[in-house]
Amino acid sequence: MTHQHTDPHRPGTASLAEWLRARGMRMTPQRQLVLDAVRRLEHATPDQVSEAVPEVDLTTVYRTLETLEQIGLLAHTHLGHGAPSYRLAEDDHIHVVCHHCNTVVDVPSGLIDDLDRQLHDDRGFRLDRSHLTIFGTCADCLAGRDD
Ligand SMILES: [Zn+2]
Ligand SMILES: [Zn+2]
Ligand SMILES: [Zn+2]
Repeated sequence: MTHQHTDPHRPGTASLAEWLRARGMRMTPQRQLVLDAVRRLEHATPDQVSEAVPEVDLTTVYRTLETLEQIGLLAHTHLGHGAPSYRLAEDDHIHVVCHHCNTVVDVPSGLIDDLDRQLHDDRGFRLDRSHLTIFGTCADCLAGRDD
């Protein structure tokens, strides 16, 4: 065993094999590595995951991220103009990003309850909270500090 195995108290980790099996899918070391890397990095683009798990090739990283999202373990959002950033689907929060310094802040998704309710009541629209990122300017950048 070269890899430290999973902490059974963390949701999602111990159950990966079961979760996959329940969906007729096979547990693979790559799937565990990719899931663990996302958990560690908190938000990670495919490239960042790939750097964290050099033993898994990039194509497999992409495919695995998509698979883990399809089965409900990961969710993605876009924290910039480029690649999606993945995180654990169970982390229910929305992202506020400063587009000057790229600082990412996780805020409780309850902050947009009113928006969610109103869009639903007025237009029958269902908000995809996990995909939502709000861009703006952070307090430091507003104060003119640009380091
Ligand atoms: Zn997307
Ligand atoms: Zn900023
Ligand atoms: Zn986040």
